[in-house]
Amino acid sequence: MRYSAFQILKQGLTGNKGWQPVWRNPEPKAAYDVIIIGGGGHGLATAYYLAKNHGLSNIAVVERGYLGGGNVGRNTTIVRANYHLNGNSEFYSHSLKLWEGLEQELNYNAMMSQRGVINLCHSDGQYDFFARRANLIRAQGDDAELLDRAGVQKHAPFLNFQNERFPIRGGLLQKRGGTARHDAVAWGFARGADMRGVDLIQNCEVTGIDIEAGRVVGVQTTRGAIKAKKVGMAVAGRSSQVGQMAGLRLPIESHVLQAFVTEGLKPIIPGVVTFGMGHFYISQSDKGGLVFGGDIDMYNSYAARGNMPIMEHVMEAGMAMMPAIGKARVLRGWGGIVDMTMDGSPIIDKTPVDGLFFNGGWNYGGFKATPASGWCYAHLIATGNHSEYATKLLMNRFETGHVLDEEGTGAHPNKH
Ligand SMILES: Cc1cc2nc3c(=O)[nH]c(=O)nc-3n(C[C@H](O)[C@H](O)[C@H](O)COP(=O)(O)OP(=O)(O)OC[C@H]3O[C@@H](n4cnc5c(N)ncnc54)[C@H](O)[C@@H]3O)c2cc1C
Repeated sequence: MRYSAFQILKQGLTGNKGWQPVWRNPEPKAAYDVIIIGGGGHGLATAYYLAKNHGLSNIAVVERGYLGGGNVGRNTTIVRANYHLNGNSEFYSHSLKLWEGLEQELNYNAMMSQRGVINLCHSDGQYDFFARRANLIRAQGDDAELLDRAGVQKHAPFLNFQNERFPIRGGLLQKRGGTARHDAVAWGFARGADMRGVDLIQNCEVTGIDIEAGRVVGVQTTRGAIKAKKVGMAVAGRSSQVGQMAGLRLPIESHVLQAFVTEGLKPIIPGVVTFGMGHFYISQSDKGGLVFGGDIDMYNSYAARGNMPIMEHVMEAGMAMMPAIGKARVLRGWGGIVDMTMDGSPIIDKTPVDGLFFNGGWNYGGFKATPASGWCYAHLIATGNHSEYATKLLMNRFETGHVLDEEGTGAHPNKH
């Protein structure tokens, strides 16, 4: 069923009885050409592009819980392409271009809102670095504007310009950045994949990966064994555990990342603002809640909820950047298990097991990567070759030392 203004009118006039389920709920078949483990944003986007770009349809996405119940439905929805290192920049640039046409392509309202992302800086050194970063982003073909203090004040007058400890020196603005509704992105890709014949199998946990003579032949699941010619992992925070099922030890740690939302307020924040003197960022949802977060909890965990010290740090940083936030009441906080690599950049690669592929290491930032990740991972799985947009997101960079240390803070996930 295509969604359209006409369809809304027709259904509205006929008692809304004609809407069809957004996807089927099939039983797993005995065998598939490709199985994707993980029904988050990346797994669903991969299945979609495998079908759309490569004409494959005998595909299953197997998900231990429900579609979109992982990080894709827990993130703070920020989309941007302001990376500066080769390897990351072309990948995220491609992703933002896909985002810009995604709703039309999927025929699904993902509430993509390009309201701008501004990173604040607080010293001359940071300002110089932002100037260089802006040039690199523009050289890649994306937009970036360096704002001085007055420029930031015009854009975001609600920030603390009296703060003498962390004075606002300027900012880096990307107007094409913004937010999208996170779970609608998962649902849109799920619907698109289902329409192309992909089986989306929920409540089906992969418990083992079957390998014969160095080649993957299928998976064991809580709903029985399923054979497959190729298997792709896209399990984000569970990467190490699922990797272990194939005997892989991955350069990834799992950490909790928390986020918070306040009661609904009248519109105050036009886009996304990030603090430069502590890990804090904020935007305002379409319902009016202030959505904000900060750093990972500094210990390894598979619990999707965090602890008080990071909450305190996030609230303090928020008060330093925007004291008015102190008047808003926090409604909820939650956590997701993020897959941290040692250089903060992702991996889309083959594994030493024939036919078994790996997608993970999305750190704090895999939501914005969702379309390009699916695009590039599908290319790798279908053709065996790396997509032109993901030639450097390889596992062996940790062996060779060619790390993609975008933040320049060293090879460790606990960066601050
Ligand atoms: C609080 C928070 C804020 C964030 N904010 C942003 C942001 O603003 N912008 C941004 O770009 N990124 C952000 N991120 C990161 C982003 O959400 C993730 O990097 C991204 O969603 C990860 O990819 P995914 O969607 O495929 O993961 P997930 O949605 O976690 O998908 C993985 C799926 O695999 C399933 N799975 C795991 N093990 C198995 C198994 N054995 N068998 C079957 N299925 C399995 C899980 O149930 C899960 O559904 C944030 C993350 C968090 C937690």
